Amino acid sequence: MEQLYEGKAKQILSTDKEDEIVIRYKDDATAGNGEKKATITGKGALNLAITTRIFEMLEENGVATHYIKTLNDTDMLAKKVTILPLEVIIRNISAGSFAKRYGVEEGIVFKEPTFELSYKNDDLGDPLMNEDHAVALGLITRDQYKEVKETTLKINKLLQDFFHGIGVKLVDFKIEYGVDKDGKILLADEISPDTCRLWDEKTNEKLDKDIFRRDLGNLTEGYQKVLDRIRG
Ligand code: UDP
Repeated sequence: MEQLYEGKAKQILSTDKEDEIVIRYKDDATAGNGEKKATITGKGALNLAITTRIFEMLEENGVATHYIKTLNDTDMLAKKVTILPLEVIIRNISAGSFAKRYGVEEGIVFKEPTFELSYKNDDLGDPLMNEDHAVALGLITRDQYKEVKETTLKINKLLQDFFHGIGVKLVDFKIEYGVDKDGKILLADEISPDTCRLWDEKTNEKLDKDIFRRDLGNLTEGYQKVLDRIRG
């Protein structure tokens, strides 16, 4: 397998099929646009195991994803897509950059989820972007935007139920979409404690990457708790 791309937390490898790739989950952690870095043994395997269960659940509920199957502790086989350079973010509770930007505390429960886009561009620091800006720059069409928003709100409902079932609040999350060779939009990338904020329903304990971002303790212990609860 040949490496096609290396990102901060994953590598993309070719397979013998033109339209399939392998996504290898790494133990590298970064935060603050790569300013804070560490290698955390076991993180990649935990994220892959959690992403696998979530993608399977979403597929069962009619969400089209790039997931084909998980091959081993670190590798997922997926359909090859062209990633839309947009970070699609849903917030159910205020936290992180939202709380900072608007000068509010974390933990405000919103009546309705907020839908937000940012331009996936590390050099620019992933700036916030609205629909018109994304269309003007040719990053997405109006029809694709509409589909992405509808699908993302559906995913939010499914994820909220899924996490509520294991006693966890889904505070916010980031997802990415890709377009396959037939022009179909597929949910891609990962959904894991690296890309979601997850708080214990009873104690508000953080079970996500904020453990690393804010030096709150042992990251893999938090992620392991999420996986153990998913596995029942
Ligand atoms: N997020 C992510 N990758 C990014 C930026 C954000 O996965 O490059 C996730 C983050 O884990 C959180 C949500 O998107 O679940 C909202 O993040 P926020 O905008 O609050 O940014 P942050 O506080 O992480 O800078």
